[in-house]
Amino acid sequence: MTASSSRSSHPVSLVTGGAGFLGSHLCDRLLAEGHVVVALDNLVTGNIENIAHLAGNDCFRFIHQDVTEYLFYPGPVDFIFHFASPASPIDYLELPIQTLKVGSLGTHKALGLARAKNSRFILASTSEVYGDPLIHPQTENYWGNVNPIGPRGVYDEAKRFAEAMAFAYHRTHGVDVKVVRIFNTYGPRMRLRDGRVVPAFIGQALRGEPLTVFGNGAQTRSFCYVSDLIDGIYRLAVSPHHGPVNIGNPTELTVRQFAQEILRATGSRSAIVEKPLPVDDPKQRRPDIRLAGELLGWQPRVPLAEGLAKTIAFFKDKV
Ligand code: UDP
Repeated sequence: MTASSSRSSHPVSLVTGGAGFLGSHLCDRLLAEGHVVVALDNLVTGNIENIAHLAGNDCFRFIHQDVTEYLFYPGPVDFIFHFASPASPIDYLELPIQTLKVGSLGTHKALGLARAKNSRFILASTSEVYGDPLIHPQTENYWGNVNPIGPRGVYDEAKRFAEAMAFAYHRTHGVDVKVVRIFNTYGPRMRLRDGRVVPAFIGQALRGEPLTVFGNGAQTRSFCYVSDLIDGIYRLAVSPHHGPVNIGNPTELTVRQFAQEILRATGSRSAIVEKPLPVDDPKQRRPDIRLAGELLGWQPRVPLAEGLAKTIAFFKDKV
């Protein structure tokens, strides 16, 4: 079998953003499920090291490509997972136009390919479609509270457009789309300096620097370990459902509590300092995951302490 093998008992999956944090873990899971996997990535925020262990695997192929350009792949494709996008607030604040392009043009190209190949299309959407939510916890039928012209809007609106485009292709062309709304996820292969709270706090704690809590740290987030998230995505991909479905861990902490968890897990004696809160930083976030339970029989399994221990072990020799 090779990375160009045909539709058979070995489905072909194309993963945009395949060298990213989530994309690379998804490639691993798909390979373990017997798929032939083609990862596409322009390596702007993705990292080839995330897939270096797959070099030489006959069932895996990497294509260095910007998915906002014309997308071509010869041969059959069973699943297209559209996971390419800058995903951390500092990345999408630095790359606002690329973020809008990959969510809009990139999604259009990937859906066009899905239509041409009669593939299932799985969109990595986000809890950011709920913006600074006025409903708590967030259910899938909540339409959100997004500032379209604020700095975060480039990500939020790109993903909202991507969802709209996916459902338009579903209604108009019958493409079998699935939309997963991904909540805060952590684990090995995050970038140490991507600015997100998990690598930021772990890096600071391991270096003995103060942990930078933005605002007064009363804002909340709910953190899901990456293997749980990938399991939910895989279950949705092979299910008959279209979503959108929230996948995340509903254990909610304030950012200040989370800083304390990191200090405990690393054994660090770092101080906690306050820094200005970014514009439009959501005040609360927790997924309602009843739908994922009912439709997919999914629930997260990895407790925070276990997930953090694995993540800290990954970062230990990188700080
Ligand atoms: N945050 C923080 N200190 C940091 C980085 C982030 O207090 O060094 C806060 C941020 O303001 C937000 C939360 O942690 O309230 C989660 O931020 P992250 O960038 O990880 O993801 P978000 O959920 O905001 O997309």
